[in-house]
Amino acid sequence: MCVAFSAAGDASSRAPIGVLFDDRCWQHDPGPGHPERPERLDVIRRALAAPPLAGAWRPLTPRLCDDAAIEAVHDPAYVALARRAIEAGMPGLPTGDTAVSRDSLLAARAAAGGILSACDAVMAGEVAAAFCAIRPPGHHATRNRGMGFCVFNNVAIGARYLQRQHGIERVLIVDWDVHHGNGTYDIFRADPSVLQFHLHQRGIYPGTGWEDETGEGAARGRVIHIPLLPGSGVGPMLEAIERKLVPAARAFRPQFVLISAGFDAHRRDPIGGLDLGSADYGRLTDAIADIADEHAGGRIVSVLEGGYDLQALGESVAAHIATLARRAAGRATVNRDPLPPAPAR
Ligand SMILES: [Zn+2]
Repeated sequence: MCVAFSAAGDASSRAPIGVLFDDRCWQHDPGPGHPERPERLDVIRRALAAPPLAGAWRPLTPRLCDDAAIEAVHDPAYVALARRAIEAGMPGLPTGDTAVSRDSLLAARAAAGGILSACDAVMAGEVAAAFCAIRPPGHHATRNRGMGFCVFNNVAIGARYLQRQHGIERVLIVDWDVHHGNGTYDIFRADPSVLQFHLHQRGIYPGTGWEDETGEGAARGRVIHIPLLPGSGVGPMLEAIERKLVPAARAFRPQFVLISAGFDAHRRDPIGGLDLGSADYGRLTDAIADIADEHAGGRIVSVLEGGYDLQALGESVAAHIATLARRAAGRATVNRDPLPPAPAR
């Protein structure tokens, strides 16, 4: 499915960064005028195929996610409901504001499968880190409800897959999309094996993600929400990473870092309003990669969430990939360190 990207792959088969495209992700069509449109992937493809990034990454092999991996985080009744709605030709999921088309289920399974493929590649040491250019996005999908342009929660499916398939015990999920990743919060809010760090604009869709939502039961304290004021820029984000996430990660010691990488906090974005510039996504990437290097052998997989201004999206993903590639190239080899031991309890 990656024929269109073979030129980049041929340019450097030893590129330390993987990028996943899947033609099937273009086939999800929410309809005319919808901001979450297939052209988003076109601008990312163009940005990564042009200098200086051409040859700095290698294409990963797409795959479809099986029901078992999806139902590891979603209620099987919801998965069946989504399938029936799409196969019946409904214009949207009955659970919320996710417009769908004939091939949306295929695209959603390809999106979720993409993160599994990326996780496999990183765990095998084939690449140091990977980015999945996938859609539909996932972080608003709760255990039993698709909403907010999302069908399946891709990053949650990846986290659970790492735990079940690769023996990863502790996963850090960082979500820097301008909207709160309420689906991810819902799925792992009582799960102490996942540390969640959410940066988002306060008070906008979906209206959750407040400071006092810190997790439940055994996972109390495992969720850090940083709701930010409009126009606040990248400064408070970097400060929150340093003051809140760095110490939390030192206590938690994640073995793998997943990023819900939305790019709608950009100042050009028509939906978000946090006033980030394209280069700021490189700064965020550096800050999270420092944490991955300290605890997780540098293992990072990031997945596309939002980002609706095409120019800003292309530039911002380029800054993200350039930073990951620069850091990985600084290593003599891809990190093959064994997983760190579990912390003393
Ligand atoms: Zn968003």
